[in-house]
This record gives sequence, structure tokens and C-alpha cells, in this order.
Amino acid sequence: MKSSSQVSTNIVKLTESFSHSTVSAASSQVQKSSMALFGGLLGQYQKRRLLFTVEESNNNKGGSNKVGHPSALKMFDEMIWNSKGKQVVVFLDYDGTLSPIVADPEKAFMTKKMRAILKDIARLFPTAIVTGRCIDKVYDFVRLGEVYYAGSHGMDIKGPTKSRNHQKGNNNEALVLFQPASQFLPMINEVYKILVEKMKAIPGAKVENNKFCLSVHFRCVEEKCWSALAEQVNSVLKEYPKLKLTHGRKVIEIRPTIKWDKGKAIEFLLESLGYANSTSVFPIYIGDDTTDEDAFKVLRSKGQGIGILVSQIQKETNAIYTLHDPLEVGQFLRRLADWKKNKF
Ligand SMILES: [Mg+2]
Repeated sequence: MKSSSQVSTNIVKLTESFSHSTVSAASSQVQKSSMALFGGLLGQYQKRRLLFTVEESNNNKGGSNKVGHPSALKMFDEMIWNSKGKQVVVFLDYDGTLSPIVADPEKAFMTKKMRAILKDIARLFPTAIVTGRCIDKVYDFVRLGEVYYAGSHGMDIKGPTKSRNHQKGNNNEALVLFQPASQFLPMINEVYKILVEKMKAIPGAKVENNKFCLSVHFRCVEEKCWSALAEQVNSVLKEYPKLKLTHGRKVIEIRPTIKWDKGKAIEFLLESLGYANSTSVFPIYIGDDTTDEDAFKVLRSKGQGIGILVSQIQKETNAIYTLHDPLEVGQFLRRLADWKKNKF
């Protein structure tokens, strides 16, 4: 049995990433509200389940550090040195990494400059976008046929539609297609319709269908309505034990209870590229959210490549380096592309 202080500590941990946003700095008031939200959201049974998940996750992190992650820009030369003789593969989250977090998730556009840099990167390295969004939505934002897309937190993976010259092994340009949660589609669609109806009562709430998972955005919901929103989501989810709740930045995510996440997705993609169990690959994963930690953890446990957390504040992470915001991500990717161009 956990003491109340331990439970409170865990709820704070859970809500820290929940309330971190580049739109508004985290405040103690926001944290208090987030805690209240989770009290309403989870109910006793689910609260125990999620808290356990947080504790398990922390116990499994091994080498994770709370503070002191150096800037990937400042440490660029050292990082490149470590990649010597290896194939760099670039994995990128979308929201909060390539695009800023904005009030309307439908308008999370990349800048033209970022898109040009990304196009350059995709031409020079195998590159994948790994996102909670559905593939169609993120493709609308990115519009590059040269990259891999792992949508719905990696539950929907497709290969490039344009030819690339860096694929190891065969040159077969057929789409890689992997959908480990396809049997959940009817259930996800059913819950989507129910949540859309329920959220009509919560001004500012937005339900997004990401094909294999759902997002309930509350970036535009007044704090006084957060607990009502949480209760509504919780009441719906009680009827669907095969779905689980996770959280991101001002968003509640609903997804199947299968053991698949962004970490599994990058393992699958590396294997697809011909680098399963290879020591000649150097993956770079850049992301800003709690769901990206699964990918950081995979790289850390394999001792391969590097994870880079995008964050304006210090927080516990399995990433090795940090970048401040999407602007710095752009600067880092530009430097990476320039290094590759000048190398040959
Ligand atoms: Mg993100």
C-alpha cells in the first residue's frame, strides 16, 4: 500500500509533463488543476493502474537522469564523432518538435524553413516521422514523399513513396505497411463517435481520430471544465477495457492495450531498413513528449545513437541531449545536413 505522500508525488510526476507547454509556462496553479483533473479522470482503480505504470516506468529507466542533459547543438561535434563510420537514421516526432504547439491542433503547421530543412535531411538520411497523429493528417502537414511515417504512436507504419538512394539491401520501393492494432479499428471508431457527442458539452474540447488511437485535446478548455471533461472521458472508457488512457501535452490519448509504442515502432523501422541488431547504425530520435520516452529508452538500452528531448524545462528523461524548442530543432537538423554535405 502506498502512503498518501507517495501517491501525491506520483500524481505530480504524471501531471508535470501533462501541463508542460510551450504556449504557456507550467505553473503551480496549472499543476494543481491537472492533479484535480486526474483525480476525476482516473477513478480509484485506474489511478492505481496508471500510478503503477509510472512507478514501473521509473524503475525500468535505469540510466535516466533528472537534470544536466547538455544541448545537442553545443555537443554536436562530439555527437558526430560518435556516429563515425555508421549510418545516421533520423527519427522525428511532429507536434512540439517540428511544429510549435498551437491552440488549434488542426493548424500545427511547420514553417517553410523547417520543411526545406526536413526535405534536405530526408534526402541525405533515412528519415521517419513518428507521431501520435494519424498518417494522413501528418502527411498533410509534412507533404514529403521521401520519409517514413509511423502514425498513431507507431501503430500505422508506411514507407516512402519517393525513391531514395540510401536504403540498405534491396531497392524495392513498395510501401512498408504495418498495422499491429488493425482489429481495434471498429472499436476506436465507435468510441470516437461517443466522445465527439460527449465533448459537445465541454467548450473548447476537441476529439481527434488518429485512426488507431484517439486524442482529446484540452488546450482550449478552461481549467474549471477540466474535471468535467475528465469525468466524461472516464465514463466512456469504463465500458472499453481493451482501451487505455495515456497523456501528452494538454491532450488525453486513448489507445489499444497492445504492447506497441514509439519504441517498438523505431525498432521495426530499423529492421525494415536492414539494421536489425546492427552496430553500424546511429539513430537520432528527437521528440518532446512522454510518448517519445519509449523511443529514448530503446536507444538507451541498445546503446545505439542518441535521444534528444525538446523541452524548455528540465525534466526526467531517457534522452541524452536536449533542444529548447522547434527553432533549435531546425538549427540542429540544418547543421546535421550541412555536415553530411561537406563530408563528401
Ligand atoms: Mg510531440
